[in-house]
Amino acid sequence: MLSARPVEGAFRRLRWGADTILIVILLAVPWIRIDGQPLILLDIPGRKFHVFGLTIFPQELYFLWMIVAGLALALFFFTALGGRLWCGWACPQTVFSDVYALVARRLQGWSRSRPPGRVAPWRKVLTHACWVAISAFVGFHLVGYFRSPYEMLAALQSGELSGASMGFLAAATVLAYLDFGLLRQNFCKYLCPYARFQGVLFDRDTLVVAYDEGRGEPRGKKGRVDGDCIDCGLCQEVCPTEIDIREGLQLECIACTQCIDACDGVMEQIGRPKGLIAYRSLVGLEGGTIRWLRPRVLVYAGLLALVVASFGASLGARKPLGMEVERNRAMLYQRMADGRIGNAFTLHLQNRDREQRVFRLGIEPRESFELVTGLNPVLMPPTSNIEARVFVVARNGQDDGLGKIDVRFVVEEITHPDLKVERESRFVMPGGAR
Ligand code: SF4
Ligand code: SF4
Repeated sequence: MLSARPVEGAFRRLRWGADTILIVILLAVPWIRIDGQPLILLDIPGRKFHVFGLTIFPQELYFLWMIVAGLALALFFFTALGGRLWCGWACPQTVFSDVYALVARRLQGWSRSRPPGRVAPWRKVLTHACWVAISAFVGFHLVGYFRSPYEMLAALQSGELSGASMGFLAAATVLAYLDFGLLRQNFCKYLCPYARFQGVLFDRDTLVVAYDEGRGEPRGKKGRVDGDCIDCGLCQEVCPTEIDIREGLQLECIACTQCIDACDGVMEQIGRPKGLIAYRSLVGLEGGTIRWLRPRVLVYAGLLALVVASFGASLGARKPLGMEVERNRAMLYQRMADGRIGNAFTLHLQNRDREQRVFRLGIEPRESFELVTGLNPVLMPPTSNIEARVFVVARNGQDDGLGKIDVRFVVEEITHPDLKVERESRFVMPGGAR
């Protein structure tokens, strides 16, 4: 007798292996530190993003855009080649939905991702309690991408976790529970934006999960029809998005390969070759050979190479020190008690290095201007940014009524003066304010 239980096929074993690796990576990443710096931490209050050893400051958001563009192009490239590989094998939505469905299968006897007709109430309660517990665990790690999990754990243990952090943890828990426990693959069907535009990325050579209609039809009981499909309906029953792959390629198919395993199991049982449902291209189904090097694949690969090269070049040109100058807009200039004119500025300094650095601030031309600040030299911890409020005073004799004078702020490492950054700004005299 044919069984609707998940079939232990080759893809299913592979998928569990891939799921396990991905879950370990997703949960481990917030804990990983390199030279004391997080592997990935989007520290919004601290206004810096740690991404794979690179600390990105708000002034360098182009790095983040390049990373996002590179990931998007890599997704396009692999989608053009292998269809929805991301959805079926790497998307956290699929991976965690599988884990939640596994819990339900164990406790309620789900057939893949659907519950049986009748389930004892205590089993339902237990299932949801387990889902909430898993959601709290997943939610904690999700928030861990935005706030150090070490800090959160210490704050939790000492009872000093802030209301905002508690709120984020609760929201992440609820989100994980609703998404992976209740929505599951309905998210892929109705909400995922990637599912909507992937049709544009596919062509006739793209690998998709497809039914071999020529071999399977006409379908019916074994021995009574010529086709290999015995119309057992298992492929449809195991499908988490509840589609019938025999009706052709559909938007809802996330290429999870469960129908391949189910059908291979059926073919084995009836003594027919496996592969009635398999990874194949439309060209392959018509007897042709897949062309791997196609214009769209080459275009995506070229754009990806361009982004990677730009990223590498920007990284190579990056200085471990950064500075932006901001004028005090509230007061253009100020007349001192001795009659000299002064302008206020804020210097946004970044130490992008993983070492503590000491920087000296200066102003040029020195013979014309003096820099007044209570913070010079500036000691900056590793990967830190500070705001230094400075006052620039024109030495006597500068107020010739010309108005605005170019000045240059200079910041240099105290022990390595060659490590320095200069930024131009304008000094406003009374004549320039009119
Ligand atoms: S395609 Fe395979 S699993 Fe689906 S109904 Fe036909 S024989 Fe059954
Ligand atoms: S049709 Fe097959 S591959 Fe597509 S979602 Fe359903 S079970 Fe997964």
